[in-house]
Amino acid sequence: MIKFERTGFTTYRLNPIIGQTTTASSMSPDSQTNIIGSSASSPYNDTITSPPPYSPHTSMQSPIPSVPSNTDYPGDYGFTISFSQPSKETKSTTWTYSESLKKLYVRMATTCPIRFKCLRQPPQGCVIRAMPIFMKPEHVQEPVKRCPNHATSKEHNENHPAPTHLCRCEHKLAKFVEDPYTSRQSVLIPHEIPQAGSEWVTNLFQFMCLGSCVGGPNRRPIQIVLTLEKDNQVLGRRAVEVRICACPGRDRKADEKAALPPCKQSPKKGQKVNIINEITTVTPGGKKRKAEDEPFTLSVRGRENYEILCRLRDSLELSSMVPQNQIDVYKQKQLDTNRQWLSMILARENKNKLMKKVKRPQHRPGIKSRT
Ligand SMILES: [Zn+2]
Repeated sequence: MIKFERTGFTTYRLNPIIGQTTTASSMSPDSQTNIIGSSASSPYNDTITSPPPYSPHTSMQSPIPSVPSNTDYPGDYGFTISFSQPSKETKSTTWTYSESLKKLYVRMATTCPIRFKCLRQPPQGCVIRAMPIFMKPEHVQEPVKRCPNHATSKEHNENHPAPTHLCRCEHKLAKFVEDPYTSRQSVLIPHEIPQAGSEWVTNLFQFMCLGSCVGGPNRRPIQIVLTLEKDNQVLGRRAVEVRICACPGRDRKADEKAALPPCKQSPKKGQKVNIINEITTVTPGGKKRKAEDEPFTLSVRGRENYEILCRLRDSLELSSMVPQNQIDVYKQKQLDTNRQWLSMILARENKNKLMKKVKRPQHRPGIKSRT
């Protein structure tokens, strides 16, 4: 209780996740000690009178270091997450997950089910933490929060204990926390055992800003780091990139197309396409000429032309990798095949001519006999 006041760790509680039997230090999200602050920012001052379920402790182990890890780590208990894809995707799909890009596309303020599983049962009292982080190194130090506009508007915020949090969970026992040292916000839910007959435990999450919100995500790519924790120790971790947008289905398709190798891309009509040509030729000695290693960019109008040029570029690239003696063998083969083909065609034509000559006299008597 005293620790809680000293460190000023702000806990927004909807409900305590685990009952009051939890020790004050057992579930701290942060180990940063000796940070003097006050709990005045907590809307739940009454929590101070009872042992806070999430309070800082004095060890140096912290699930929230200044740069949180986003490395996938199943740990000893095989902590896994998954997304149950909607059976049919429509234009109005509120969320979709791209397996190939390992990226979640979701509309703002709509519920998205994330499924959790442990291959082996972890100890009792484990929690799952969901924390958004910026993905790029230049932004990763900054905590992810909602934009001031959404955080202060009435919509979605009435009676909500954590209006500034980007990531929400609809679990009844969800606890919204903010680390006083890093200012990172996260939501904690209890780790639960799947119900009889089911493999997964599903929790509903919401993302409360658009990726483009100025003063919030501001077009910076975001990941949600989901950790299985017990007594401040991370037992497992999964990270998933999240794009919060107006059209999840459309954006997913566009991203998947863009991720394909250049040749398989089918750009939108009317769009100018840049292709990088790295055409290299092979001299008889097999050495590349320096000047021809230089890459050039070419703008093409129309998908068809673009695809033709792509094929040309690939053929040139591939042929540059083949040794000269193999090219000679190939050319010789081509010549032979062409000759064979020509002689075949000639032979067929000659045969046709002969057939016509033979057929004509045979037909005439048949026609006469009918008339
Ligand atoms: Zn916003």
